[in-house]
Amino acid sequence: MIFKKGGVMTYDPQNIFARILRGEIPCQKIYEDDFALAFYDVNPKTKIHALVIPKAPYTSSFDFYSQAPSDMVIGFSRAISKTVNELGLTQDPGFRLLMNTGPDAGQEVPHFHIHILGGQSIGPMVCPHHGS
Ligand code: AMP
Repeated sequence: MIFKKGGVMTYDPQNIFARILRGEIPCQKIYEDDFALAFYDVNPKTKIHALVIPKAPYTSSFDFYSQAPSDMVIGFSRAISKTVNELGLTQDPGFRLLMNTGPDAGQEVPHFHIHILGGQSIGPMVCPHHGS
């Protein structure tokens, strides 16, 4: 679930990543197994920018990590490592994993996904704090 004003968002089976999972929309696949699908981000923010999504209907990281069965959580985590390996990012200088959760974090697609960012120096973790 994603928190939003006045309630909680339910899973929308028409979201773009659900459609990619059903094969209705193409993607540039990097890795796939029973638990997850990994593909390149269509609008890359770094030289290498991949997304890993679970093959199950969870709206956000909070939803996934609080609700998904253990074998799915472990399988998904392993799929991240396998994708990192496929991308050739296992050695220095490293990479960043990122999960935007809900509107304050700028989550656009309401199907849980993790970003893998690398191939260059990425810079600070967050923007400077605004206001007090
Ligand atoms: P977020 O803001 O964390 O929800 O990230 C959503 C990401 O999905 C963005 O980086 C988009 O560029 C990416 N995206 C949206 N549609 C597609 C698509 N059809 N194929 C690959 N990436 C996509």
